[in-house]
Parts: sequence; structure tokens; C-alpha cells
Amino acid sequence: MKPPLRIDGSMGEGGGQILRSALALSLHLQRPIHLINIRAQRRPPGLRRQHLTCLLAAAELSGATLEGAQIGSQEIHFTPGPLRPGRYTFDIGTAGSTTLLLQAILPPLLLASGPSHLTLHGGTHNPQAPPFDFLGQVLLPQLQRMGARVRLHLQRPGFYPRGGGILAAEIEPVSRLHPLELTERGEIQEIAAQAVVAGLPRHIAERELKVLAERLDPPPARSEIVELSECGIGNIVTATVRCRHVTELFCGFGERGVRAEKIAGALAGEVRNYLDAQVPVGPHLADQLLVPLALAGGGRFITLPPTRHTTTTIRVIEAFLPWKFSLEQQSPTHWQVGLPHQ
Ligand code: AMP
Repeated sequence: MKPPLRIDGSMGEGGGQILRSALALSLHLQRPIHLINIRAQRRPPGLRRQHLTCLLAAAELSGATLEGAQIGSQEIHFTPGPLRPGRYTFDIGTAGSTTLLLQAILPPLLLASGPSHLTLHGGTHNPQAPPFDFLGQVLLPQLQRMGARVRLHLQRPGFYPRGGGILAAEIEPVSRLHPLELTERGEIQEIAAQAVVAGLPRHIAERELKVLAERLDPPPARSEIVELSECGIGNIVTATVRCRHVTELFCGFGERGVRAEKIAGALAGEVRNYLDAQVPVGPHLADQLLVPLALAGGGRFITLPPTRHTTTTIRVIEAFLPWKFSLEQQSPTHWQVGLPHQ
């Protein structure tokens, strides 16, 4: 086995995604890693429950040896063994994001030697993480276009801070992924809005949807309110833009002390930004496509100006592989992210 790859978690964006991308690649490439300065740019820094669960899950999936796996730890050594696909349950134990846990362990399982069934307990609709619907409607279809065979189920929603959500993933591995070409979004087929209130009054959802109807052009063709009981307290409003070649989803989370109109207004601004730019890939999908592109050994897509999550994930991938991504500005709003076919 190769010597451990040293990765500095303070680089670029300096958050948890460096750890998750590094774990996914370490498992796939069977490369030990030594991570330092983990989440150095977050307060508090170091491992929190979600990151610790990513690490413990990656270790269980591969019989890895692991040092430094404690809450608050800023340094870990992780030496993976061969990947052992199968049936696993991982419980974050808090409202930590199950969708982010999947970011660390799903990519290698897509190409494993056998099927897997994962049941993940924690949050499914967390601020600063992909909500379940983003994974299901946005990322998953692109992975499927690359040949991945995976199904996701929201068994129970879980909002921050209570958690209690359950996400299940069924993975039928394939022998390879195909490079993704996503350079045009195609015509818009539908814009749909949804507001979910869990344990909160319905008028919050009504006011959010009203703002989206007023501020989006074209306005959502469908608007839906979902009222949940027994899922803790939470509110999420989403706008889904379905185009011929890609679906994008933007969201806003209700916050105590912040008016529903403000949350929906900020969301409308994000959607308009995306629609005006006429690119297929929004800022979050961009960074989440990079590890799959690396697994496929190539691909390209057009997106908005790259975020720090995107440039940082590229640096992590380039630390593992002797390949170079290209970032090419084609116009003020169009950037092409590419990985030449290997
Ligand atoms: P980090 O901040 O390093 O923990 O990484 C957060 C991850 O969550 C990145 O992959 C982001 O693209 C993703 N993310 C954050 N907010 C959203 C959102 N609203 N929709 C989709 N993905 C998101």
C-alpha cells in the first residue's frame, strides 16, 4: 500500500467537505490518509458528530485502522482495508446531516464488488447541507446518467435541531461510471415550489409560497404545502427548476426570529440568479459532481462562478490523482469545469 497522503484541512474552504471527499477517495483508491487541521476554518474546529460518523462509517465499511477519531479532533490517520459492501446502519446520534454522511461513503460503494443497503439516522433537512430532495431530484439523476445504480428513500424526515430522520440507500454496484457531459440545461419544463412546516403554523408556508409566486418569473406552475407532525419543529421552502437535461433545487430554512418573507425572498434571489445565468449546474451541484467525475475518470459541466467548495474539492482530488481539472471562464456567468478523459 502507498504511504499515507497528508491533507491539510485548513486549505481553501477549510470545512467538513475536505474530510468527506478525502474519505471517499481513500476508500475508492485504497490510499491511507493523514488529515491535519480538520475544519480549521469552522467554529468550533475539528470533528463534530456528523464528521465523526463519516469516519467511523468509512472505517466499518473497510475494516480500516483509525487514529484520532474523537469529537473535536483536528488530526486523524485513516488506513482503509478492502471495501466490504453490505447492509449497514449508521446513526449520527444528533441532527447531523445524513446527506453529508452519504457524501463520504456513497461514491466508493457505487463501484464496489457487491450491493449495499444503508440506513442512516440523523438530520435529513439541515441548513448548510443538501436537503434530501436535492439528493433525490438533483444529484441522483446525474449519477444515474453516469451509469450509477442507486435508489434513495426518505423514510422519515428529520429537521435540525431534533433530527430523528432516516435516509435509506440501495446501491447496485457497476463496474465503471461514464464521464458526465452537462453543458446545457435544455428548455425549462417546470418550476415547482414546496413549503414544508413541521410542528409550525401553516401560514408560514403560505407566506413563503406567496413570495415565490410574486418574485419568480415564470412563477411556479405548482405550489404545495406539506404539514408534518411528529417530526420535530422545522420549516423548509424549496424551488425546483426542472429542465430537459438537469433538475436544480434551491432551498431556504426557516429560522427563529427571521420572517418567512425574508427566507423566501433570499431563495427567490438564488433561483433568479440561476435562471438568468442559463447554466445547467448550480453552485452546490457543482461541488458535488467533482468526486463522481474523478471516479468516472473524466467529464465536464457548465456552472456559475466556482465556489470555494468547488475549488477546494478540486484540490483534494488533485492531491490523490495525477490529473488536472480545468476551470475556464467562458462569459461573466459561465464557467466550464472539466476533467480530461483519463
Ligand atoms: P461543508 O460546508 O464543507 O460541510 O460542505 C457542505 C456541503 O453541503 C457542500 O457539498 C455543499 O454544496 C452542500 N450544500 C450546502 N447547502 C446546500 C444546499 N442548499 N443545497 C444543496 N447542497 C448544499
